Amino acid sequence: MKAGPIVAIDLGGTNLRLGLISPSGRILRRRRFSMENNPTEDLLHRNLYRMVASFLSRAGKSPRPKAVAIGFAGLTRSADGLVYFSPNVGRLSNLNIRNQLEDRLGMPVLIENDANCAAVGEFWQGAGRGAKSLFLFTLGTGVGGSLVIDGEVWEGHHGIAGEVGHTVIDMDGPRCNCGNRGCLEAMVSAPAIVRTYMKIKEARGEGKPGVVTSRTVVGRARRGEKAARAAISEAGRALGTGIANVFGLLNPELILIGGGVSRAGPTLIRPAVKHARNLVCEPLRGKLKVRRAQLGDDAGLLGAAYLALKRCSA
Ligand SMILES: [Zn+2]
Repeated sequence: MKAGPIVAIDLGGTNLRLGLISPSGRILRRRRFSMENNPTEDLLHRNLYRMVASFLSRAGKSPRPKAVAIGFAGLTRSADGLVYFSPNVGRLSNLNIRNQLEDRLGMPVLIENDANCAAVGEFWQGAGRGAKSLFLFTLGTGVGGSLVIDGEVWEGHHGIAGEVGHTVIDMDGPRCNCGNRGCLEAMVSAPAIVRTYMKIKEARGEGKPGVVTSRTVVGRARRGEKAARAAISEAGRALGTGIANVFGLLNPELILIGGGVSRAGPTLIRPAVKHARNLVCEPLRGKLKVRRAQLGDDAGLLGAAYLALKRCSA
């Protein structure tokens, strides 16, 4: 099939972002829509079609897209096009967006987990270019992870491979949203960093700092505030344990750190790598390669498009 652009969609709980992606990985056009709060299944189908149709109608003279590729914030299984749980998009289960959209648009539709798309995007156009295998940690409100081997996502038998956020780092650690204790997510996600920061401020007798977000903590750490630096460094040590576990278990060539929390940069990544190196067996310490992801919010769009381009040319 002749290469044409792909309509890539990053569908999250708050926003839906659309991009027209060229076969060489350029973002030709983009648009953002707000998502309805807790949409029903029917509303989600209707809105999604409406947004894609409106995006396509303004395509002007650009060549007709070959496919639509959706990175969805939920548990997906791309082989049968199913989202079997979407905790942040209406808490819906067993959604089949693909079939309905394919019928209405008359073009192939691909669906994949959004974190997996971000990892493929980094492999294609970002910090993972040239790596045969990589693992991406996505640190945000939650913590996700994805394994990419030769440009393909390893989804696992049930589609949950790479879900590193709920691997346990400290059995006696803080309670996680999933009900367990000491998951990576409960220690390095944005809310976890804020919690740790509050605790450190109180322990230092510096009083309650009012309303802060992880962005505030990152900003204060950059400006050298000790409590903020300590909170991020503590998260870094937990991340380091996660990195060492992934390195030992999957042994990817490259480990990338992305998501909003990665904006903390070296304040987070330096203690993480230092701690991970101490945990990895001695002869392999020098082999551990960790980098910050490069593409930010565009990684998901680019990765979804890459997977669709591959599917179209197969
Ligand atoms: Zn958990």
